[in-house]
Amino acid sequence: MSGPLTALFGLHPRGIMHLPLRRAPFPASMAVEADPASFATPRLVALNEPLAETLGFSAEWLKSREGVALLSGQARIDGVPAVAQAYAGHQFGQFVPQLGDGRAHLLGIVTDDQGQVRDMQLKGSGPTPFSRRGDGLAALGPVLREYLVSEAMAALGVPTTRALAAVTTGETIWRDKPQPGAILTRIASSHLRVGTFQYFAARENREALAFLCDLAIDRHDPAAREAENPVRALYETVVARQARLVADWMSVGFVHGVMNTDNMALSGETIDYGPCAFLDVYRHDKVFSSIDRNGRYAYGNQPRLAGWNLARLAETLLPFFDPDEERALAWAQDALGRFQSLYEHAWLARMRSKLGLTVESIQDRALIDALLQLMEKEALDWTLTFRRLTRNEPLTDGPASEALERWKTDWEARRASEPASTEEQNALMQRSNPAVIARNHRVAEAIAAAETGDFSVFEALLQCLRHPFESDNAYEKPPSPEQIVHATFCGT
Ligand code: AMP
Ligand code: MG
Repeated sequence: MSGPLTALFGLHPRGIMHLPLRRAPFPASMAVEADPASFATPRLVALNEPLAETLGFSAEWLKSREGVALLSGQARIDGVPAVAQAYAGHQFGQFVPQLGDGRAHLLGIVTDDQGQVRDMQLKGSGPTPFSRRGDGLAALGPVLREYLVSEAMAALGVPTTRALAAVTTGETIWRDKPQPGAILTRIASSHLRVGTFQYFAARENREALAFLCDLAIDRHDPAAREAENPVRALYETVVARQARLVADWMSVGFVHGVMNTDNMALSGETIDYGPCAFLDVYRHDKVFSSIDRNGRYAYGNQPRLAGWNLARLAETLLPFFDPDEERALAWAQDALGRFQSLYEHAWLARMRSKLGLTVESIQDRALIDALLQLMEKEALDWTLTFRRLTRNEPLTDGPASEALERWKTDWEARRASEPASTEEQNALMQRSNPAVIARNHRVAEAIAAAETGDFSVFEALLQCLRHPFESDNAYEKPPSPEQIVHATFCGT
């Protein structure tokens, strides 16, 4: 080995002395060293240049052969081994004591320009000791879906992991049909999942749990360190962050699709974009994921299921809340009990903003519920309806129903009671109601073109998703009946 980075296929580690990657701080019980698979012809197909710069990477270097070697797992960096993290999880309510990174490699950590430590992880980079029967690979479609949707969420202001890059591996992988293999480079505030804690709780490994709490506090809640009981303080902020996150999802019509405990991060970032989707027509019980047969993770169930997951997290931390089991349980129930009201409060705040309302009134809940009921009854598009309200346009293409007209009159009366001026209300709506979301049919279209080697559709959509509050008629249009995507697939 001749330098800090040694690539596998004859690359020289020139010019990479300043690679900002460091070793992730896990003991061997938490993450096993694992090399990504070798791929003969990796090709960079997407690079998030602004994100790269914030992480201290030169975008130019990432595009070079050495950069692509790093982004495809073909580089070995002395002293910075890639690792696969251990975690467990409740999948659709069933506890699985060992899941882990079966197709992901944590390359290391970097400190961004805000001083925040971030994980850099490859997804689809080959088998690990946690792969079970899987091949460790990812298909191009799901990689581009995660890229588009996570970047869309970031632009909408929703906490999320980010997509740094996508490469194709040059190999064909087998799913329901042969597909191009690909790797996503994901940047996350951490990959500490509820399932990470469950893994060690199931093994009654107190020491590991204490380590994870310390790490979570370091990464996400340094202020908790000052609290009388730092783990209680950590848990409270995790609960508050999830409440805000799910309220964000609901307000932009996002359906995660697989809210298993292994897919919920303590950071409060949206993580593990699988069969996720944005609502077109509003239905509170809407499910897209082909694997969610009972609708467990339907749009309207997301707040309740987030609470359920947080209860599982509390179970792993009970001994830290209080050495006395009963007192620990009572405290946990109390802390968890606040989730519902935190969520309600966050959700109402977002919905008020969507309607241009700047102050609270006790009628608001009824006003919002009435609108949602009408939207559901009349099969109105979630995003377009709020955007039409923002533009003061008719809500339907044909004549509006009497009920909708009545609702609008009530809304106008409520707006008239506001201390904020009409201009202020309009501006609030403008920045609370996106015109452009990652609509399923657009994502599907971008993936289909990319699978034939044409990435221009993906690029055009991505550019548009970066400015969701700017009106763009072509991309804001809901799907025509034949364009509607009814089911999304995990692609695993
Ligand atoms: P996910 O559905 O992506 O949240 O993954 C659930 C679990 O399955 C995790 O432990 C993954 O690492 C594992 N997994 C998913 N796809 C694969 C694959 N193709 N090969 C190996 N493991 C996988
Ligand atoms: Mg997952």
